[in-house]
Amino acid sequence: MSTSRHDGRTQNPRTTEGRVLSAVSAISALIVGTAAFVVALDAQSRTRAHVEALASPRFEGRLAGSNGERLAGDYIVGELEKIGAKPLPGQQDVRLPFEFTAGTRDGGSTIGVSATNAPAGGVESGAKTIGTPARALSFSDNGDVEAPVVFAGYGIVVPEGQGFGYDSYATLDVKDKIVLVLRYFPEDAEQKTRGILARYADLRYKAMAARQHGAKAMIVVAGPRSPNAGELVPMTFDTALAGSGIVAVSITGNEAKRMFTPTGKTLEDAQKALDDANPHAAGFALPGITARVHAAVEREKRTGHNVVAYLPATMPVAGVAKPWVALGAHYDHLGHGEAGNTLAGKDDAGKIHFGADDNASGSAAVLAVAAALAQQPRRRNVIVGFWSGEELGLIGSTAFATKPPVPLDLLAAYLNFDMVGRMQDNKLTVQAAGTSPAWGRLLEQANIAAGFDLAVQADPYQPTDVATFNLASVPSLSFFTGTHADYHKPSDTADKIDYEDLDRIVGFVASIVRRIEDSTEAPAFTKVDQTMQAGGGRAGVRVYTGTIPDYSTEVKGLLLGGVVGGGPAEQAGLKKGDVIVEIAGQTIANIYDYTYALDVLKIGQPAKVVYVREGAKRETTLTPSARK
Ligand SMILES: [Zn+2]
Repeated sequence: MSTSRHDGRTQNPRTTEGRVLSAVSAISALIVGTAAFVVALDAQSRTRAHVEALASPRFEGRLAGSNGERLAGDYIVGELEKIGAKPLPGQQDVRLPFEFTAGTRDGGSTIGVSATNAPAGGVESGAKTIGTPARALSFSDNGDVEAPVVFAGYGIVVPEGQGFGYDSYATLDVKDKIVLVLRYFPEDAEQKTRGILARYADLRYKAMAARQHGAKAMIVVAGPRSPNAGELVPMTFDTALAGSGIVAVSITGNEAKRMFTPTGKTLEDAQKALDDANPHAAGFALPGITARVHAAVEREKRTGHNVVAYLPATMPVAGVAKPWVALGAHYDHLGHGEAGNTLAGKDDAGKIHFGADDNASGSAAVLAVAAALAQQPRRRNVIVGFWSGEELGLIGSTAFATKPPVPLDLLAAYLNFDMVGRMQDNKLTVQAAGTSPAWGRLLEQANIAAGFDLAVQADPYQPTDVATFNLASVPSLSFFTGTHADYHKPSDTADKIDYEDLDRIVGFVASIVRRIEDSTEAPAFTKVDQTMQAGGGRAGVRVYTGTIPDYSTEVKGLLLGGVVGGGPAEQAGLKKGDVIVEIAGQTIANIYDYTYALDVLKIGQPAKVVYVREGAKRETTLTPSARK
């Protein structure tokens, strides 16, 4: 799934390097007896028309919650009507809305400075200046804080064990103070230490360090010796639903200068003293300076839409175990790349990300499989799902699974398509096959007619919507033809799609659905143990906790959407719905704190975890293992 995000940097580019547990190779088509399961496709396949429509400029890259997403939804709704799919039972419409945070805006943050014992430049002694404009950091809490100011240098704390000790707070008492910190990290640091410092220079990390040291607010200034000197920090795209537990704003260089006046030093000199990254250079209190910080972040809520319909069973479902089966693909993509998860080069920045392979191809496959199934007798109801918000962190499918219009334990199976339009060398990757003992044989049988080189992977903890259904204990499969140079770039266009092989995949999966349909029994679910957290996470994070965060719900702390089977979190007794609020003495207000807290954990060393379950605080001990 799309896991943690930091400052809009891309996380989790899909990779083809998953473990291939068993390669079910193409078996000779001479083996007979499967004709009954081969689903005839229309002579004239519609997959090309679907991909060309969904990846057209009109839909502007289908960013969740955008007009392009709505128009793409219209197209899908029209196609669903053509094949006779209906709204789910109890629903008026095939569009199922969900809310999410699409971005942040400053709502009038200000900074006021007063000097109590010495006149500061432009600040009279005892005067309370009217606040001048500041800008909230996108993860700031909203609120007003007034307190004395301590200059805390770069505000960086490098946890132990990184081979380089650096703690801006080592000699400072900032309890109940406001800390003023420089943006970035020491400018003249040696190459070797730069890498370490850079990792902990993320403003979220600095805010956490300030909060952990008892500061009431953090003020950031880009120092005169840094890039963007004296400029306010732009607010970043941030899908976090809540603040990070501290008020945090950036101020201009002029404002910072005024605070320095009573010290007799300049901000530039203070920065210079820190810029060689000497771990013993320290910040200091700004005598007599009190600041009043007003932070106002407006989190922009948007509404995205899943499009979900179903083909009712044509035979009585009485006696059929789990009388539903689901197909799904995300139809959203990156828009113009404004959500920060683009891999576009400088020349392509801001262009439409057409997302032909990711994931117009999967959406086309779902429409085509559904069209084929619509013409045949059905023993089960078939859900035809198109998720939005996948690219922002599986938001749409998670919203669906959180309040499912059809109970998910009635689903015999979920079959997902994500990037199925760029087949190479006949290789089709099938992920999540470990979710049922039924899959191995079923795939093998269906592949007799199809003849793919199947790469079957057990792992369901994938950066795509299949992860959502695995967490809901639905036997699942996800189909994928591999990543490529156009992944998450504007160059992922419809002309590069391999329609012939896309149609073969459609036929293959349609025959799998038919096999599921033909049985009154349902595949059993197997919980897959996993020794590695799926997806990216921060480079260099070596400890592994086996937690699966839920990004879709507003909560203080880290809400668990699940735990990885057999992982340290499960062994610690943690489970879905628990909210971790502290780990190894670090308070956790959100996913970012948690990611950073991982840095202080040590492999094999038990750490205390405080969590909330059903409103009650509890404690357990979690022993992190090594990431593989
Ligand atoms: Zn994607």
